[in-house]
Amino acid sequence: MAVTLSTEFECRNESACVACGGRQAENYLSAPDRFFSRDIIYKLVRCPSCSLVWLSSPPLPSRIGEHYGPSYDSFIRKATEKKSDQHWQQTLSTIQKYKSGGSLLDLGCGAGSFLGAMRNPQWKLFGVEMSEQCATMARQRTGATVFTGDVLDADITPGSLDVVTCFHVLEHVYSPAEVMAQVFSWLKPGGIFCVHVPNIGAAEARVFGTYWYPLELPRHLYHFSPASLSYLGKSLGFDEAELITCRVSFIEYSTRHILSSLLLRFGIPHPDLASASAPGLLWRIFRKGLRLTVLPALSAIISMTGQGQIVEAVFRKPFPVQAAE
Ligand SMILES: [Zn+2]
Repeated sequence: MAVTLSTEFECRNESACVACGGRQAENYLSAPDRFFSRDIIYKLVRCPSCSLVWLSSPPLPSRIGEHYGPSYDSFIRKATEKKSDQHWQQTLSTIQKYKSGGSLLDLGCGAGSFLGAMRNPQWKLFGVEMSEQCATMARQRTGATVFTGDVLDADITPGSLDVVTCFHVLEHVYSPAEVMAQVFSWLKPGGIFCVHVPNIGAAEARVFGTYWYPLELPRHLYHFSPASLSYLGKSLGFDEAELITCRVSFIEYSTRHILSSLLLRFGIPHPDLASASAPGLLWRIFRKGLRLTVLPALSAIISMTGQGQIVEAVFRKPFPVQAAE
């Protein structure tokens, strides 16, 4: 497969690292969009100073919508809707360590899965969501005020928020530094920014390489590690309250990418993940076999080595330093 670069893409090969400003980006890996089984090869580069990884020639913002679409939205919505209040319990506990109430904004709130778990008289809830359909569902489900559109265009009063949350969104945006700077301005002093992103430094990422499910090319424009996310937060003026990795496994999806690639090589038709709403009989039999045999053992072995798949960070906006009298 040849590397295709056309007017659909903007070139960022020479651009500086948005986290540390480094200009020595080196090749990291190249892979296609395995979710839609498309042929175009995308190249990721890595900053050796802070370990941030990014897509060197992302689709133009005006064309990025072509890489999402109804099947992607449906896949994500189903995955998100599976998440119950119990799923969010750990995140709620984390937030409650710092804040017991106030104004909370969820960036990329989807259909309101997290906002629903936060529904409580002590919280005034806000959301930002690109999809009007999801935003409507979130409003109906949670009573939150949900802005539709780009995060950077949301009509939020500076210094008005106690908590901003952002779960699996920062890797999709063109300007993560700009978004985090905006969050900084929206927060009150002492307010917190709670963020989850896939961890490019995770053990599974090393094991699966170009088949690692969260690469999500070209929808994931940036790939963070604990070090690069920490660097970015601190460079924008945040204090780092906590930063951990957690062990959510993507082995099943990553294994499916490998199987799809093998079947493609032998010319055997099969549904890609974009068609996951109707998985074929072959895949269902294979998946059952994997779940009963290899996957639990593989997951246990990988989890004993290195970092987990998700970076969970809490950044805090510091209080202004009082001038000495
Ligand atoms: Zn860097």
